[in-house]
This record gives sequence, structure tokens and C-alpha cells, in this order.
Amino acid sequence: MNFDAFNLNEKVLEAISYMGYNEASPIQEQTIPAIMEGHDMIACAQTGTGKTAAYLLPILNKLAVNEPEGLNTLIIVPVRELAKQIDQQIQAFSYFLPINSISIYGGGDGMDWEYEKKSLMGDANIVVGTPGRLISHINLGYVDFSKIEHLVLDEADKMLDMGFFFDIQKIVSFLPKHRQTLMFSATMPPKIRSLAKHIMNKPKEVTIGLSTPAEGITQTVYYVFEHQKSKLLNMIIQDRPNYDSILIFTSTKSKVNSIARAIKAVEKSIDAISSDLEQEARELTLQKFTSRQTRILVATDVLSRGIDIKDINLIINYDAPHEAESYVHRIGRTARASTKGEAITLVGEHDIRKFKAIERLISSTINTAKLPESLGEGPDPLAPIAPFKRSPQKRFNNNRNNLKK
Ligand code: AMP
Repeated sequence: MNFDAFNLNEKVLEAISYMGYNEASPIQEQTIPAIMEGHDMIACAQTGTGKTAAYLLPILNKLAVNEPEGLNTLIIVPVRELAKQIDQQIQAFSYFLPINSISIYGGGDGMDWEYEKKSLMGDANIVVGTPGRLISHINLGYVDFSKIEHLVLDEADKMLDMGFFFDIQKIVSFLPKHRQTLMFSATMPPKIRSLAKHIMNKPKEVTIGLSTPAEGITQTVYYVFEHQKSKLLNMIIQDRPNYDSILIFTSTKSKVNSIARAIKAVEKSIDAISSDLEQEARELTLQKFTSRQTRILVATDVLSRGIDIKDINLIINYDAPHEAESYVHRIGRTARASTKGEAITLVGEHDIRKFKAIERLISSTINTAKLPESLGEGPDPLAPIAPFKRSPQKRFNNNRNNLKK
């Protein structure tokens, strides 16, 4: 479907064409008309589906027609990288419109604070912020939300996972009751429904391809013993000299640096990023990777959600993610917006069961690659899997429940 079909303002259409978007993505096709009609909306869509434009375009379209006075739209997101990225998209889409936007997140200096304060008092028309920072400003009493017409919660499930349920409710309690509320979430756990009930008005619902990786991704799995992993990793990298952007995920912060050190033996252009890094260092590392100055980045799941880095050639999961959903988010960093990409997962002897759950979730069996001969045999994925050992606490709870019966 072409963007012309939405009856958008010509200045918005012009910006869309500058962005190089030709066709609306499925989430855009299904949500834009209802949002333009003014409905509240719960949309279940993963990152990489074009969900940001799905809510930004109708809002900007409205502001193109009725020039906003003061703070008109509040977008709440879980992490600062996402806040900045959305703000960049707003600036691109509103290039021809008289609209000011700002991203507001923790970790800045005093200058940032003053600028944020003025923006929240009405200098900005659109604020994209993380819950904690917004609450800090709200608590000081000067924030003027009286003209807010739109509230967007992006990556709502992630925000609830991070424990922001009450913070979000608190922020919403300061907003005008009459407003349009849009909630975008990769998953729809009951907590999201409960939040929606509190803060939304007869929302329309749209679900788009939950838990299916983009079609352009070639997925491969290696079953490999832990001690074989770093050698295999180096071989995979050496086999792909023409890839200039490789992102490696691991589940634990503690492994990030050791993996980076192991790779340094074959590739010098490598960095590591985790939530342990200070904000400035994190931004610089990310920016060097995005601009292709660094070829390889090792990261924890911090980066797997929402962050839009274009054209990553290869995603390597150094270990199977803890949750099956995370797999889809991690590999969603490649083949964004229908390009091609490759995702390789190294599944250790203890992660086979976890990986089977991922295959069930995405309803497909991922192609198994044979280990290079020099590494020897890996674990057998078809061998019977030993039952999970119960933790003492779980055993205690179970016994207690049995006693109650
Ligand atoms: P998102 O899911 O919002 O993070 O978007 C993922 C990527 O797709 C971003 O780089 C967008 O700029 C891009 N994108 C969104 N909508 C379209 C579209 N209709 N055509 C081409 N690219 C798009």
C-alpha cells in the first residue's frame, strides 16, 4: 500500500519520500487509518516492523494541520538509546513542519536538565522520555502537561519488565483525561492488558507477526560445547571477510569483555558494550559501530530491543537467550525493513532445551551447521535431555502445595 492512500498532509508525504519509504509496512497499513481517526490503539508489533512511523505519522499529520501550542505529545520509552532514536525519526519526519522535539533521559549534566525543564514547561511540542527522568522532573512541580493530546507508550512490555508499572501510572495521572493513547508492545502479557484498562479508552487492537523473524534472515545453529565456542566464533568471523558489521550477543554482562578479548586475536576492530558502561562511553561505542568505524560489537540484550542500526550483516548469539522472545529481538537487528541478513546461534550443551523452545516459538526448525572438523564433535541435540533440577525453593513450594491438597 502506498502512503498516498492515507490522505496525509503533503509536507508529511514529502518527508516520507525523503526517508525513502515507498510502501507502508503491514503495521503501518493496519494502524495509521485508525490512529488518524482518533482511536486509542494497542499494537502488538516487534521492533523492525516500522512501528515508530506507524504512530509518528498520524500524530505529525495532525500537528501539520493544527499547529501545536506547547507540549502536545508525550512518548514514553524504556531506554535512552530508543528515546534518542525516536527523536531522530521525529526530526526527520517533521523536517518541513514547525515542530520542536526533545529526548529526555537520565545521565545528562546540568545544562541538559535546564533545557529539559524548559521543554517540559512547553518549549517542546513532542517529548520522548524514559520514565525515571520524567518522574524526576514531574516531582519538581513545573512540568506542564495540560495541553497534551497524545500519549504513546513504546516497548510497553519492556517497561513493565523493568518495573515501571507504577511510574507510568503516576506520569499518566498528570495528563489530561481527554487524550489519545497509543500503546506499542512486542508481547501482550496480562500486565499490559491491566495497564491498558487503566489508561486507555476503548482501544482498537492490531497484532502483527508476533515472534516471527523477518523473512530475509538466514538462520543457522551450531551445537557446540562451551570450550569450543571461542574457536568457532573466530572461524565464523574469519570466513566472512567481506562483512563489515557484525553484532555478537551474550546473555551475561560478565562474558562481554572476555568474548571481545578472544576475538581480538583475529580482528582488532572490535568493541564491547553493556549496561556497565557510562552513558557517554556507551553512546560513543554505539556510534562508532553504527558508522562502521568498528566492525564487530559484543553486546548484552540492552541492544536487542528497539535500537535501529542499519544493515548489520551478521548477528551471532554466543549463547541461546534466556527467553525465546529475546531470540527474535536479537536477530531482528539484521535484515531490517526487508533487507538480507544472517543470524548464527551457538547452542551449548546446557542450552539445547532452551533452544528447542525458541524453535517452537518461531514455528520452525533452524538449519543445523556441522562444526568444522578441526574442532571435533559437538553435543548431540537429539540426545535425551535430562530433566531440570529443581531449586530448593521450588522444591519447598511444591511440597507445601502438595501438603495443602
Ligand atoms: P522500527 O520498527 O520503527 O524500529 O523501524 C525499523 C526500520 O524500518 C527503521 O530503520 C525505519 O526507518 C524503517 N522503516 C519503517 N517504515 C518503513 C517503510 N514503510 N519503508 C521502508 N523502511 C521503513
